[in-house]
Amino acid sequence: MIPPRPTGPGRAARFFVLALLVPFAIREATAGDEIPPVSDRAKAVHASGLLWDGHNDLPWELRAKGDMALTKFDLSKRMKVGQTDIPRLREGGVKAQFWSVYIPSEHANPAKTVIEQIDLVHRLVAKYPRDLELALTADDVERIVKEGKIASLIGMEGGIAIENDLAMLRAFHALGARYMTLTHNSTLDWADAANDKPKHGGLTPFGERVVKEMNRLGMLVDISHVSVATMDDALRVTKAPVIASHSSAFALCPSPRNVPDEILARVKENGGVVMVNFYSNFIVADAAKKVRAAREAILARYPDPAAGKKALEEWYKTEGKTLGRGTIKDVADHIDHIVKVAGIDHVGLGSDFDGINRWPVGLDDVSTYPRITDELLRRGYSESDVHKVLGANVLRAFRRAGEVAKQLQSEVPPEVDEITPEPHDD
Ligand SMILES: [Zn+2]
Repeated sequence: MIPPRPTGPGRAARFFVLALLVPFAIREATAGDEIPPVSDRAKAVHASGLLWDGHNDLPWELRAKGDMALTKFDLSKRMKVGQTDIPRLREGGVKAQFWSVYIPSEHANPAKTVIEQIDLVHRLVAKYPRDLELALTADDVERIVKEGKIASLIGMEGGIAIENDLAMLRAFHALGARYMTLTHNSTLDWADAANDKPKHGGLTPFGERVVKEMNRLGMLVDISHVSVATMDDALRVTKAPVIASHSSAFALCPSPRNVPDEILARVKENGGVVMVNFYSNFIVADAAKKVRAAREAILARYPDPAAGKKALEEWYKTEGKTLGRGTIKDVADHIDHIVKVAGIDHVGLGSDFDGINRWPVGLDDVSTYPRITDELLRRGYSESDVHKVLGANVLRAFRRAGEVAKQLQSEVPPEVDEITPEPHDD
């Protein structure tokens, strides 16, 4: 049985407060800090690797800017707004991208809205066929990259979109979705979120079936946004590698959105990949601590959710600007840490570009990835290690998930719930 969706003012109120902590799509001017030019060696190493980023929010940015029809912005030209367009993707050496079909944590029509975002990605790919092509398998990714195009994959953000229905999960897979974060910022009927109160202690039995069905379909189970207990449950249940498409290391930056060391060790055993998020509040420890302290103080002072929301907004408007942004070195420190705890085979990049309002100095947009390669080489990473971080690891995990799916499809039937029979009207 699937429990009914909880309703009531408490849930909505919590959402309003939590939503404030989600990066909004406002751009700040980039600092003119001096960044050393990328070395020739780094350029060559970067170009010979396969850079596959785990999370880019361009689809929601286009929706937010009123361009569902894809007629306002010409992505084939370098734009002065946003963090993503084709010239900058090319300059940054992006060869594969998970385009996020994000919707807000709670939404009146989650499935419909995610379908609209998936439709947008399909139309985006169709509009720029010389540069983008939809990829559904690991072989697709390799073929498309070989043809000089950017392999475009669809990643779902938040299991709310399946509306507690495994048929919907299969339908989203059929539409091309190849990962799903089990939750976004709100706890669901079947999984606890990182930024919300826990209700289930991780996954419910239905949540475990969601993971099993994702394994059977070959859709990557994404542990970004979920609570540590949910990560733990997902890792216990899954038969395929998991990813964290856009999360960093908790040990370096104590944001609930990051992955703690005990889970990094489990991801190593699982064969999965944690893809480092560039958002300053997930990279810089001091920023994460200040946001957390402000949130707790304001929540204690304003029992009325609307007032709390306003107060947090005001705080963020003034104090938010004073929080540290971090640098490329901070991002590299997170990579180093994940390598230390989980190993070089289990780290990747999940920028969150176009979904963040603050980012490390020098990592301004999708054109700046070669600076990470440069920094890793300076730290003594070998060419093949750099290539693993850039994308070889996620390619391996995705390929393995496809193999597991094939095996499971020959062994187990789909997870299906019986429904109350309905009469057929003539
Ligand atoms: Zn996210």
